[in-house]
Amino acid sequence: MYFIANWKMFGTLNSLNSLHKVVKFFKTFKKNKALKIIYCPPNTLIRPMSKKLKNSHLIVGAQNCHQNETFGALTGYVNSYMLKNVGAKYVIIGHSENRRAGETNKLINLKIKSALKSRLKVILCIGETLQEKRKKVTKQILKKQIRLGLNKIKNRSDILIAYEPVWSIGTGLIPKSNELYETINFIKKNYKKYKVLYGGSVNPKNINQLKLINNLDGYLIGGASQNSNKFIDIIKKSYN
Ligand code: PEP
Repeated sequence: MYFIANWKMFGTLNSLNSLHKVVKFFKTFKKNKALKIIYCPPNTLIRPMSKKLKNSHLIVGAQNCHQNETFGALTGYVNSYMLKNVGAKYVIIGHSENRRAGETNKLINLKIKSALKSRLKVILCIGETLQEKRKKVTKQILKKQIRLGLNKIKNRSDILIAYEPVWSIGTGLIPKSNELYETINFIKKNYKKYKVLYGGSVNPKNINQLKLINNLDGYLIGGASQNSNKFIDIIKKSYN
């Protein structure tokens, strides 16, 4: 199971102080062989976090990258090669917060190709808006996001898909269990061999419901992942 922490634009050097709790938990957790914990902090914390987590088996990733893996006159941007260079092993691409800011499926495809060239593993985020859900076009939307996002990409082992309904991110809402099961099944049937995670308001309470959905390969966790105790609680409960 994958537990991916997306810190978004939160965190300073002080925020690394509580990571030792998660490191300690991982060491003593019986199921740690089946468990992958990946932290995606803001770019400013990738290097110090990688140093802190050295030898811990916890992994560090990034939250986005530019589509060019080469250097260039692009003020304010960071490419996949630079992220890899400071210790990232994964990168989240296509998060709905970035899609909303103008990231298209075509751009997402270029970013994924660039990340793979730099030997970063990719967490591709997909998900429908509330309006699309109401119109009952979720499956078409997800299919399009995957088809265009992964266009001409053969490498499946280095890509995870995170299903994150836009209406569930940061809202406290999660899909009905039968609907989530069906959606994950749909993705897995159409895109075989990809690991599929769920993201959207995962917390220590609703994990008891989510863990019963047995076709999930893990979770992408935003808000709750910034608190080490909550993050550990989610992981523990999902194995109980
Ligand atoms: C996310 O940003 O990917 C996310 C799932 O956020 P939250 O858990 O806060 O809803």
